[in-house]
Amino acid sequence: MKRICLLGASGSIGGQTLDVIRKHPVDFSLVGFSVGKQVDKIPEIINEFNPKFVCVKEDTKDITKQFHNVKFFYGDEGLNKLIKACDCDMVVNALVGFVGLKPSLTALENDKILSLANKETLVTGGELINKLLREGKGKLIPIDSEHVALSKCLAVDNTNVDKIVITASGGAFRKLSRDQLENVTPEDALKHPTWSMGQKITIDSATMVNKTFEIIEAYYLFGYKYEDIELMFNYESFVHSLVRYKNGSYRLDEGKPDMRVPIKYALYEGSCEYDLVYVDKLEDYKASNLYPFEYDRFPIVNLAKKVIDEKGLYGATFNAANEEAVYAFLNKKIKFTDIENIIDYCVNNVNNIQNPSYEDIRKCDLSTRELVAKIVKGEIK
Ligand code: NAD
Ligand code: MG
Repeated sequence: MKRICLLGASGSIGGQTLDVIRKHPVDFSLVGFSVGKQVDKIPEIINEFNPKFVCVKEDTKDITKQFHNVKFFYGDEGLNKLIKACDCDMVVNALVGFVGLKPSLTALENDKILSLANKETLVTGGELINKLLREGKGKLIPIDSEHVALSKCLAVDNTNVDKIVITASGGAFRKLSRDQLENVTPEDALKHPTWSMGQKITIDSATMVNKTFEIIEAYYLFGYKYEDIELMFNYESFVHSLVRYKNGSYRLDEGKPDMRVPIKYALYEGSCEYDLVYVDKLEDYKASNLYPFEYDRFPIVNLAKKVIDEKGLYGATFNAANEEAVYAFLNKKIKFTDIENIIDYCVNNVNNIQNPSYEDIRKCDLSTRELVAKIVKGEIK
C-alpha cells in the first residue's frame, strides 16, 4: 500500500489522481491533500478517502471545525508542513505555478518519491531538483503525458538515441496566422482542441509556452541537450511522444488523450503494463499523422535554449513573466500577443547569476512579477 500526499487535489490533475487512487484502493491510500481556494471540495475528499492531514490556502473555520480528528495546515508554508507531517511515501505535485517549487524541494529533501505534474518546478528550479536527486534518496517521476511517453520508450531502449521528439497539438490557435492572433479573447484561448485542463496550462498551450516548458522539463528529466530535443505536430494528441534512434527507426507511445494513463504510470513508478509502437521508419506509422513543427510560427520555443544553456535565473524569470501575463490576459488587461512581448521584455532584462539558491529564485520570481505589474499598468512601455 503506497501512502500518497496529493497537492492540488481540487484541480484537473488532482481530480484525475483521485480517480486513479479510487480505482486501486488496495495499492494506494490518500494520507494527506491540499486545496487552494476550492474549500467546498474538502468535506467530500475527507469523507471518501479519510486522510488525517489537509492543507488549505486560507483558514476557513466553518469547514475545518467539522473535522476534529484532521490536522489542518494553512498557506504556502502549510504545504511543506503537510508533506512532513503526513508520513507519505509519495508526493503528487498537481499545483499550478511557482508555488509548486518549494513543496517539490521539501518532498525530495525528505526522501519522498515525487510524482510531478507541476512543470513550473523544473522550469524554475531544475538545477536544485537535480542536485537533491544526486545527493539524496528521493526519486522523481514525471506526470506530463509527453514525458511519461518518453520515459516508457527510453525504459525499453535508451541506446543509440538520435533525438527525443515531443509532440504538440498546436493549441487553440494553430490554424491562425500571427496577425490573426491580435484580437483573440480568453474565451477563444480556453477552447483546447484535444485536452480538458486547468485554465493556466490551456493558455500556455495556445501560446506554445507549454511546449517550451516541456523541452526544459525533458532536459532536466532525461539529460538530453536542447539540440537533441525536437518538436512535432500531432493535432489529435494521439501520439504522446517518440524516440528516434540513429538507424532512423522510431519508438512511440500512442493512445486517446487521458491524463489518468500517465498519472497511473507515475503512481505505480513505471511498473505497470503498457504497449509501445516500434517502426523502422516514420512513414510506416499510419494510425495518426505527424507533421514538422513550425518553429518560425511559434518563436517562443527558442527560449527553451536560453533557459537550458544559460541557467541561473532565466527559468524563474520566464515563468514569473508568463504567469503574471497569463492572468492579466485572462482578466482582459492585456492582449494575447502581449503575453509573448512581456516574456521577451523580462527575459531580456535579467541580471543573471549562476547556481541561485531557492531564496534567490524566490526573489527573482517576486521582482519579475512586480516588473510585469508595471508593464500591465502602462508604466513601462
Ligand atoms: P488546475 O488549475 O486545474 O489546478 C491547480 C491546483 O493547484 C488546484 O487544486 C488549486 O487549488 C491549487 N493551487 C493553485 N494555486 C495555489 C496556491 N497558491 N496555493 C495552494 N494551492 C494552489 O491546474 P491543472 O491543470 O491541474 O495543472 C496542474 C499542473 O499540472 C500545472 O503545472 C500544469 O501545467 C500541469 N499539467 C497539467 C495537465 C492537465 O491535463 N491538466 C497536464 C500536464 C501537466
Ligand atoms: Mg504535456
